Amino acid sequence: MTTRVFRVRAIVLAAMFVVFLSCATTGPGGQKSFIIIPSGQEVEIGAGMAQQVEGTETVLPDSVWQAYLTEVGQKIVDICDRQDIEYHFKVIQSDQINAFAAPGGYIYFYTGLLREMDNEAEMAAVMAHEISHVVARHGIKRLQKALGVALAYELAFGGEGAGQALDAAIGLGMGLVFAGYSRGAEREADRFGIHYMAKAGYDPQGALGMFDKLAALGDRGAPNVFEQLASSHPATQERIANAHAQIAEMQPLPPGLILNESRYQQMLKRFPAK
Ligand SMILES: [Zn+2]
Repeated sequence: MTTRVFRVRAIVLAAMFVVFLSCATTGPGGQKSFIIIPSGQEVEIGAGMAQQVEGTETVLPDSVWQAYLTEVGQKIVDICDRQDIEYHFKVIQSDQINAFAAPGGYIYFYTGLLREMDNEAEMAAVMAHEISHVVARHGIKRLQKALGVALAYELAFGGEGAGQALDAAIGLGMGLVFAGYSRGAEREADRFGIHYMAKAGYDPQGALGMFDKLAALGDRGAPNVFEQLASSHPATQERIANAHAQIAEMQPLPPGLILNESRYQQMLKRFPAK
C-alpha cells in the first residue's frame, strides 16, 4: 500500500518535473520544446566533449585570435535568446574547413574555415549560426534521442547510473558532432543566425558571402566542409535562396551595420604560414 502510494507520488512528481522542464526550455524566438536533460547536465556533457576536442586537436596558440573570436561570439550571445549558460569560443589550428558547437555552448572554429572568410561579418554569420544551434538545443535534443529516454532520465535525475550515463552521452555526443543536423534544424539555425547577426550589428550580406564561398568550395570538392554545407547537397542552393529571401524581407536594414574587412584581413595575417 505504502509502496504504491509512494510510486504514484513519484510518478506525479516526475510528470510535474517534466512539465516544468518543458515549459522552462525555450529556443530561438521563445519557442518551447521538450527537453529532458536540464542545462546543468547539458553543460557537463559539453565540457566533457570540449576536453576531448582539445585533447586531440591543437588550440591555436594565439591569445589575440582567441580574444577576437570570443569578442565576436559574445556580441552575438549578448542579444541571443539563451542566457542560462556561459559560452566558450576557441580557434583550432587545422586546415579542416569546419566550425561546430558542442552542447552547452562550447563553440569551435578551425583556421581552415577562418582563412576562407574575407571579413568579420562572414565569420559572424558562421558564429551566429552555431550559437543558434545552442539556443535551439539542437545538439542536446539529438543526443537525448540517441541516448534513449531511460539514459536521459538517469542523467537528468542523477540516479545511480548518472556517471555512466554522462560518459555515454559524451561518447555519443562526439560521434554526433560531425554527423550533421537535420534539414529542419539547419533551416532554423540559418534563419535565427541571420536575425542574430544583424541584431548584433553585423551586415547580413556577410551571410551571403559566407554561403557563396562555402558553396564554391563544395564545387571544388573540398573535403571536411562546414556542416556539409558545401557538399553537393541540393539543400545548399535552397539555403542560399532562403538567406536571400530573408535579407530582402529585412529591408530597410538599420544604418551602420558592419563588415569589418580591414580588421579581419589584419587578423588573418597572424595565422601561421600554411
Ligand atoms: Zn548548422
